[in-house]
Amino acid sequence: MMEVKKVAVLGAGLMGHGIAQVAAQVGKYEVSLRDIKQEFIDKGMEMINKSLQIYLRKEKMTKAEVNQVLRRIHPTLDLKEAVSDADLIVEAAPEKVEIKKSIFSEVDKLVQKDALIVSNTSSISITDIASATKRPEKCCGMHFFNPPQLMKLVEIVRGTRTSDETIHTVMDVSHKMGKETVLVKKDCPGFIVNRILIPALNEAAVLLWEGIADRDDIDKAIKLGLNWPMGPLALSDYIGLDTTLDIAEILARDVDPKFHPCPLLKQMMRAGYLGRKTGKGFYDWTKKK
Ligand code: NAD
Repeated sequence: MMEVKKVAVLGAGLMGHGIAQVAAQVGKYEVSLRDIKQEFIDKGMEMINKSLQIYLRKEKMTKAEVNQVLRRIHPTLDLKEAVSDADLIVEAAPEKVEIKKSIFSEVDKLVQKDALIVSNTSSISITDIASATKRPEKCCGMHFFNPPQLMKLVEIVRGTRTSDETIHTVMDVSHKMGKETVLVKKDCPGFIVNRILIPALNEAAVLLWEGIADRDDIDKAIKLGLNWPMGPLALSDYIGLDTTLDIAEILARDVDPKFHPCPLLKQMMRAGYLGRKTGKGFYDWTKKK
């Protein structure tokens, strides 16, 4: 098993900022955090700061520990600077295969020969993403859940050419980050959780689209009937309606056309109602605490 000292996270959005924080806070790794625009990096660092302030307020961390975590995270716009001395690169860019393949291909040329490149993709084939590199045996899926600071699970996804050493190293890093792991033995779209979850979220959107029930009743039914901590429409807002739609499209294309996304998801995406991150989705998040 390889020893990982430095982690690079590519993408400082909803997931990337949280993964960087957990790597620095729990895993005690040196972390570089890269995005394509300064404003995205600033927003990611602001979210990390906010989250750390909560730990401080709840007396789960001291001021010195918070500062230590912040010192371990190195934000940058420069891809080479972010990855060149990293042992593990975690890609957390948008759920589009062409973006992920272009990142993997570029990173492959800039990193040390033993470095592992993994993707936080929710649904895209790891074998496909890894084919953009000359090191497919050193690539796998490392799928965190939202928010990475709180959610316990990481799905480790084996691509067709992933080596056992890569799987063991990424499992070990996940455990050092305080996570539980499950192994997805075959590279199938959606892996375990999203294969089950996204069709359910999509079906909730269909119920609303067809006027079968109101938003609040759909969410109430699933919360009280299935004991979910939040309803499927609120959860879609948390995930981001763009990401939910992207995953549904991948399931429909690569698993079965029966998973085709609800027209309402497409309509909301076109209107820029992406959920919590834009302030409006199924709910108005500018008013909600
Ligand atoms: P997001 O839109 O919040 O963040 C993506 C970030 O990547 C943006 O800041 C964007 O500027 C940046 N980016 C774009 N191109 C880049 C590049 N070339 N290099 C570096 N950064 C780049 O999306 P997100 O919700 O954080 O999702 C990221 C990944 O995590 C997706 O693959 C998604 O499927 C997966 N994921 C999402 C969730 C969720 O609940 N949102 C949960 C688990 C996994």
